[in-house]
Amino acid sequence: MAFKEKTYWQDTVTIPAGEASAPLPERIDVAVIGAGLTGLSAARTLAQGGASVAVLEAETIGWGASSRNGGMVLTGLKLPVSTLLARYGSEVTRRLYAASLASIDCVEQIVRVENIACDFSRCGHLEVACKPKHFDDFQRSADLIARECNHALRIVPKDKLRDEIGSGIYHGGLVDDASAGLNPARYVAGLAQAARKVGAKIFERLRAEKIERDAQQSGPSFRLTTARGPLWASNVFVATSGYTSAATPAVRKKIIPIGSYIIATEPLAEPLARELSPRNRMIFDSKNYLYYYRLTPDRRMLFGGRARFFPETPQSIRESAGILRRGMIEVYPQLRDAPIAYAWGGTLDFAFDILPHAGQLEGMHYALGYAGHGVAMATYLGKIMAEVIAGCSPAEANPFHGLPFPGAPLGLYDGRPWFLPFAGAWYKFLDWIS
Ligand SMILES: Cc1cc2nc3c(=O)[nH]c(=O)nc-3n(C[C@H](O)[C@H](O)[C@H](O)COP(=O)(O)OP(=O)(O)OC[C@H]3O[C@@H](n4cnc5c(N)ncnc54)[C@H](O)[C@@H]3O)c2cc1C
Repeated sequence: MAFKEKTYWQDTVTIPAGEASAPLPERIDVAVIGAGLTGLSAARTLAQGGASVAVLEAETIGWGASSRNGGMVLTGLKLPVSTLLARYGSEVTRRLYAASLASIDCVEQIVRVENIACDFSRCGHLEVACKPKHFDDFQRSADLIARECNHALRIVPKDKLRDEIGSGIYHGGLVDDASAGLNPARYVAGLAQAARKVGAKIFERLRAEKIERDAQQSGPSFRLTTARGPLWASNVFVATSGYTSAATPAVRKKIIPIGSYIIATEPLAEPLARELSPRNRMIFDSKNYLYYYRLTPDRRMLFGGRARFFPETPQSIRESAGILRRGMIEVYPQLRDAPIAYAWGGTLDFAFDILPHAGQLEGMHYALGYAGHGVAMATYLGKIMAEVIAGCSPAEANPFHGLPFPGAPLGLYDGRPWFLPFAGAWYKFLDWIS
């Protein structure tokens, strides 16, 4: 297979360059760490409110998961509603589910207000059942979501599935018309422009190496060490997701970085593309080790999955490309001869309870743990946490406020995920027995 080992989306837009060599201001109101969707959304809201904001990005704008993802803007969280109910009860479950719906509205509104040409479309999502039992679970899940969260999903029995997907391997589907799709690289580029327009400064290739509380200042204050000298900030917002580093050890200990990989074919003929996905849905299957896939606006099949658990390396991208291509042909034998044009990987951020988390740790604010559902939630939590930091909203405006943010059992984790091969094997086993 000859393909570009890079993100297809990044070939569809020129992401604006940040300040690569400009001197840092000495003191600012808020230092945002990470220029992905979380950080840029926060920077935009903070700067709109008049705060002085510096975004520090170790690589380039959108370099992390934000420009590499599938562009699926999905309702719900990674955890099923039944698990949320069992763990947190009705009130919290309703609040979190409502936040997932509000997060899509938030993306839609930003795209409209900022005029971001990122192909945002409320095309809906389709979850497909890999086993008959998974399809039975869909019915229960749709009933539960309707009853508890007042949100309607639609069951698609196996004999009607051809209206939704040109594959014969599934046992039925579940559709949510409220979900959307977009081009993530164009979206993150637009968000960066929007943040800069209102005065946020984005410093590229500038890693926050160390962050210390500065006890000598009156009021909360932090000293950030960078290669371009120190920076003092009244507040720090950690928006580093699966790329969280030793600069924020307390946050790093609570987040597991997990690899996810995607391939994209050459553009497909229009009749074939329509056959594969007649309603142009964002599609994913019902396994733990799931596949997720969709058409791009120029009619490529973009097919992703957790082909390897470890974060991306050139070798893992090449190996994953082969695994994903075989998976794609199992789903769509029609694509046996479709050339693969791109393959890439990125890092997801999982908390130990598989829930997003936002709040304050060691005086710093943070939002992360999106578990593969971050396009909308990162945008939303970036905005909400910015309002909390600016004092325009109470801490309770954050839907995850007050929920425990667990670390590893027995504290056996320092941010280097030695247990990923075991976790990978465990999830494969669960898929086998479920
Ligand atoms: C392959 C893949 C597919 C996905 N598909 C989907 C999908 O279809 N739908 C969905 O909802 N979600 C999806 N996700 C998840 C989604 O992309 C993320 O949840 C979201 O982009 C997180 O955004 P973020 O801004 O928090 O983090 P990121 O975009 O990862 O940005 C974090 C940034 O922090 C920077 N950084 C880290 N440490 C430092 C430091 N010390 N100093 C300065 N900078 C630092 C990094 O360089 C990085 O750019 C996918 C993720 C991957 C990897």
